[in-house]
Amino acid sequence: MIHSSELPVNFYTTGSWDRAVEKRGDIEWFHASLRNPSTQIHVVWQGRTLVRHEDHAVLNILNAATYSDLFDVARSVVLLGCDEEAAHIAIDISAQPESFVTSLGDAVDLRAIGPLLPPREASLSALARGMAYWHERHTFCGVCGTPTVSEQAGYQRRCTNASCNAVFFPRIDPAVIMRVEYGDRILLGRQASWAPGMHSVLAGFVEPGESLEDTVRREVHEEVGLPIGEVRYFGSQPWPFPSSLMVGFVAIALDDTLNLNREEIDSAAWFTREQLINSPEDETFKLSRKDSISRALVNDWIAQGR
Ligand SMILES: [Zn+2]
Repeated sequence: MIHSSELPVNFYTTGSWDRAVEKRGDIEWFHASLRNPSTQIHVVWQGRTLVRHEDHAVLNILNAATYSDLFDVARSVVLLGCDEEAAHIAIDISAQPESFVTSLGDAVDLRAIGPLLPPREASLSALARGMAYWHERHTFCGVCGTPTVSEQAGYQRRCTNASCNAVFFPRIDPAVIMRVEYGDRILLGRQASWAPGMHSVLAGFVEPGESLEDTVRREVHEEVGLPIGEVRYFGSQPWPFPSSLMVGFVAIALDDTLNLNREEIDSAAWFTREQLINSPEDETFKLSRKDSISRALVNDWIAQGR
C-alpha cells in the first residue's frame, strides 16, 4: 500500500516512542517516575490539551519535579510511555479552576491544533486525551455501582467492592471509514452539522455481530443505497474525538445510482480526480482535515491517477 497523503495515514498513532507496557505493573517505578525531574507531564483539562502560551504549535510539557503536587489533585494519571529521554505521563486536572490552568498554559482542543503538531507530540496528546476521557467515564463500576480505582499505570480500573472485583479496560469504539469507488469516480458526502462545504468519504460505527466488511456494506447501503462488491483494507487510525478507532477500507460499488437516506446524510455525489484536485477548499467545497484517514483515503486515490 502506498500512501501519498501529505501526512501519514497513521497520524496520532504510536511512533518514535515506546508505550512501555512492561512498566505498567511496576508500581514502585511508576511512583518514582512521578517525582523524577526528567519525567515530562502532559496535561489534560476538561478534554483539552494544555499548550504553551507562547507557541501553540508546541505541546506544553511540564517538568514533573516542579509540578509534582498536580499528581495529588489529578482525576487520572496515566503512563503514556517512554523515549530515550524520559517517561511521559498524562494527568487530567479537570477539577482545577480555569485560573490555575491558564497560569500554566492555554487549554486548547486537540481537534484544532492536532494537524499543527509534530506527529510524535500529536500521538502523545491523542493518547493522553483518549485515556482521560475513558477514566472520567469509568469512575463507578458498571456492574455494581461502587467506585473504581486505577491500576496498571492507568490501563485498567478495578471495582473496590471486594465481592464484585470487576476489572475494566480502556474502551475504544471501532468505526469503518470507506472510499466508495465506481469506475473513475469516488463518492463523497456531507452531514448538515459539518462545517460549510466539508465533504468526506462515508463512515459508520461497527455493531455487535458484524465483521468490519459487513459494516462497510451496511453503512453504504443505509446512507446512499448502493450495493458493494469488493471491500479491501486500507489502514487504520486512532481518533480520540472522543474514543474511536477508524478502520479504513476501499469499497467497490456495483452501481452508481444514489438513493440518499436524508436522516443519515445531507448530500452525497460522485467526484472525479479532476474535481478533487481543483477543490476550492472553501465554504462551497472542501475536503476533510489533513490529519484524518478520510483525507488520506482521498489523497491516495488522487495519487493513483497520476
Ligand atoms: Zn463492582
